[in-house]
Amino acid sequence: MREFATGEIEKPARYMGGELNCVYKKGAPVLFALCFPDIYEVGMSHLGSAILYKILNAREDTYAQRVYAPWTDMGARLAKAGAPLCSLEEDRPLHAFDIVGFNLSYEMSYTSVLYMLDLGGIPLLASEREGCPIVAGGGSCVVNPEPVADFFDLFVIGDGEEAAGELSGLMAAHKKKGFDRKAFLLSAAKLDGVYVPSLYRPEYNADGTISKIKALLGAPEKIQKRLARDLNAAPAVTRPVLPYIATVHDRCVLEIMRGCTRGCRFCQAGYIYRPVRERSVGALLSQARQVICATGYDEISLSSLSSGDYSGIGELAGALLTEYEEKKVSVSLPSMRVDSFPPEVAEKLQHVRQTGLTFAPEAGTQRLRDVINKNVTEEDIFEAVRNAAGSGTRTIKLYFMIGLPTETQEDLLGIADLARRIRDEAAKAPREGRRARIAITVSVACFVPKPQTPFMWEAQDTLDVLWGKIAFLRERLKIRSVKFDYHDPRLSFLEAVFARGDRRLSAVLLKAHASGCVFDSWQDCFDPKKYDRAFEESGIDPKWYANRKRELTEIFPFSHIDYGIDENYLKKELEKAYAGEGTPDCRKGCRACGLEKDGLCIQGGGR
Ligand code: SF4
Repeated sequence: MREFATGEIEKPARYMGGELNCVYKKGAPVLFALCFPDIYEVGMSHLGSAILYKILNAREDTYAQRVYAPWTDMGARLAKAGAPLCSLEEDRPLHAFDIVGFNLSYEMSYTSVLYMLDLGGIPLLASEREGCPIVAGGGSCVVNPEPVADFFDLFVIGDGEEAAGELSGLMAAHKKKGFDRKAFLLSAAKLDGVYVPSLYRPEYNADGTISKIKALLGAPEKIQKRLARDLNAAPAVTRPVLPYIATVHDRCVLEIMRGCTRGCRFCQAGYIYRPVRERSVGALLSQARQVICATGYDEISLSSLSSGDYSGIGELAGALLTEYEEKKVSVSLPSMRVDSFPPEVAEKLQHVRQTGLTFAPEAGTQRLRDVINKNVTEEDIFEAVRNAAGSGTRTIKLYFMIGLPTETQEDLLGIADLARRIRDEAAKAPREGRRARIAITVSVACFVPKPQTPFMWEAQDTLDVLWGKIAFLRERLKIRSVKFDYHDPRLSFLEAVFARGDRRLSAVLLKAHASGCVFDSWQDCFDPKKYDRAFEESGIDPKWYANRKRELTEIFPFSHIDYGIDENYLKKELEKAYAGEGTPDCRKGCRACGLEKDGLCIQGGGR
């Protein structure tokens, strides 16, 4: 593939490989392609893929290599020449691997998966893949993998650290005795957390809803998620591959914690990554040292869903600032109240240059924030804003959601009102004798009901309603120093279709792919008309999936996939949402979400 990465191709370094720290090895019986359905710069920034690269390559029996989606210029060149998509390490065609694993973290990457399979010379349908690699998927979208079930041989549900290695081991054993695809898949289905979709058959009612999901050939009725119980025992990336070109996150990233216990009712990550697991301060400091030594990075950033909740944040921040201040390695810290740090760290933090503050009030009124269980008050927001403005922040980005359950016009007006008051609060913070001038961006996303959340039964607003709300906000946000931007509702609509969709949607994806849909999350590539045609030609009404409120008794396409959260708990949370009742952070007391039953949660497990 490298020979095609010349001439008119944009950023040929995307296709060259040979970066510092990439792995070369010989003689491993299992070849595992780690595919990311987006361009190099995005895929290289994905921490989960880097972790799997390390884990798989640490095994003697496996050689893991990276494959990213070629941008459209390179894709067209490969297709024209009939040359296959290849890995970066060995320039090996995708079809010449044993396992081809895709990260699925965004519904709008599905057509890019098909694009990569096609370019890699692998049949799109799993049923037509005899003699070809096993195609596996993992990542947050496998909470409901059904819209892409026909394209995958198996999925890993939950944390992939252990399961990826087990799959590799299983492949090595099966290759040794003469590989038989069916026998391999039947064995794979016995591994914890491995879902083989061809072993399940959904049956439908006359109204299109699911009547039953039948497990075949002895496959388990439910597939329970895998859980890396002890994050300190899980491998961390210490020698990341160092790209030649700038990537989205081109720095040392420390995963300080997995999971979040705040319980925001719209947030899928907050439910599916439970329980909270932390890495120790000592382990993180050691990881930082190894990464800086192996890469020369001059920036360290802390990653988690809610870094302010990490129990050792003060100690870690203090140690990193002390160790790296003189080495000119900057430390990006989550925005939070300076008073939550010990005084000596708070003092240092005052000097950390903050380029911008992002804050997610999510809703414009306290009433709606109570509905979604966003436990943040206006005073919390104002305090963070004053602190940030006082320490030099010049830009503030505020994230809101529209179309949330129970939303009224008053809530939309609340967004404009809050933005104005935040601007005024920020301006009060004195800085170098002058009042701070702050630029505020209000960024609005459309609510997408997601599986495994209390709102998974809710309808999404129709596109007309969402466009109307955006137009309303655009008018109301004509405020000095405040900019307005929004996520394309047509993308959110499709996200909602695929997030709770079933296997019948694979026909739509095949047609969308055939008509050239790829990189749908990129503004300049997304073509909603192609999707409209694909739905029409498939005889499928996307509104039935996105805009329909589900009965509480409905069987979801993903009902057989078990993330450990009790459905009755989610229903109770939904009820509390409509009553405007909050559920406190479960670190302050277990709320019995279901994970405590199987001892999956240490915090709740003792009850
Ligand atoms: S079991 Fe309890 S402590 Fe654990 S995540 Fe669920 S509610 Fe929180």
